[in-house]
Amino acid sequence: MVVARVFGKSSSEAIQRENDRLAALQQLDLLDTPRDEGFERIVRLIKEIFSIDIGIVSLIDAHRQWYKACSGLSADEVSREDTFCRYVVDCEMPVVVQDAIKDPRFSQHPSVTGEDHIRFYAGVPLRTKAGHLIGTVCAIDRRPRSFGNRDIGILEELAGAAMDRIELMQSAAIDSLTEAMTRRAFKQEAEQLISLALRHKHDLSCIVFDIDHFKKVNDTHGHAAGDEVLKAVASTCKTTLRAGDLFGRLGGEEFAVILPHVDREGAAAVAEKLRAAIASQIIRGDHGDLTVTASFGTSALSIVSKEIETLLAQADAAMYQAKHGGRNRCVSWSSIHADHAIGARRRVLKAGSILFNDRRSTIDCTVKTIGSESAGISVSNTSGIPSEFILAIKGEGFETNCRVIAQDRQHLEVAFR
Ligand code: GH3
Ligand code: MG
Ligand code: MG
Repeated sequence: MVVARVFGKSSSEAIQRENDRLAALQQLDLLDTPRDEGFERIVRLIKEIFSIDIGIVSLIDAHRQWYKACSGLSADEVSREDTFCRYVVDCEMPVVVQDAIKDPRFSQHPSVTGEDHIRFYAGVPLRTKAGHLIGTVCAIDRRPRSFGNRDIGILEELAGAAMDRIELMQSAAIDSLTEAMTRRAFKQEAEQLISLALRHKHDLSCIVFDIDHFKKVNDTHGHAAGDEVLKAVASTCKTTLRAGDLFGRLGGEEFAVILPHVDREGAAAVAEKLRAAIASQIIRGDHGDLTVTASFGTSALSIVSKEIETLLAQADAAMYQAKHGGRNRCVSWSSIHADHAIGARRRVLKAGSILFNDRRSTIDCTVKTIGSESAGISVSNTSGIPSEFILAIKGEGFETNCRVIAQDRQHLEVAFR
């Protein structure tokens, strides 16, 4: 690559800017949230207005570009290293590439030389009111073309509409597909229930679950069938849970429950009941009869785990352990704790590096949860990452040896050594 990356310059100013950008992105809590018709409309408009193959509204974390909406490509996300958009993030300005083959920055790019055959790219920043660049809005084509100032102006207006939508979404309480609470509303209500539980000294626990092999449902039966499955699973959960329980959709096929007045053992029992109800449910529709399973993690309120972010992070780590253990099962945070001496955790969004092979190999990652003894990390692909490595957090002088205790395709749970 001809152009140095921001981190390559290792300027502390650039690292600070990146950390602030990630903090703003974390604040909005939008990564991996469900599809939204408002953004779908924006990407359809991009294609219509410019008569172009691909429109994208994306968010960019430490290691990947995640598509909030995308029309014209099948992927949901791409490694940040492999994107045109990283240049928009690096220079904080619109970037136009009229013909990628003639541009030395992109001519050897995998999306140019590979099966996507990208030739044209125009991307503008998606910027918060406070000025943080959280993602991009872009128009992409498989033929070279020109793009004038007026076109950039239109793309910037569309980015403004996307940002307005993001701000509006901050107040949405109910997810329109599943009628579960949105992530944000769920967390707000959970905080209230936690304060009550702490004040009146009663129990409270948390469940996180994620549908197993859901990608296969979409790939085999189509996105509409996937949507039906999500609706059916959410509806089963609502009928299984009590009226006072809180039920939210954290992301695509990941849900969470807060159980007031329920302790650790009780939460494990409720998770088991939900697991059995989902696994035995037959989802009928145009796609034929379908069944799915889900993996569950549970955690409970305690003197050291009294924030919603901590409860979610612990239940999340337990859920990954359930995936690792073969899926369609429930794992409680306390049992991982006993096995791996894992202390409390909180959810974060930090730029990290995985170093191995005597530091000769480096992989960018996003640190999602962290505690004094362990962390949860996302990467583009876990294959090729050894079971022991060094985790570094950029700009914080944090470096520690890690051992992988659970993993799936894009996530690693690690214990510090
Ligand atoms: P695992 O058992 O490890 O959880 O595998 P998985 O296939 O469930 O997990 P992965 O995260 O690889 O895939 C989740 C898929 O869910 C990818 C994404 O396209 C899809 N998805 C996310 N949100 C929606 C939605 O609202 N509707 C539909 N139909 N699919 C969605
Ligand atoms: Mg899943
Ligand atoms: Mg998932």
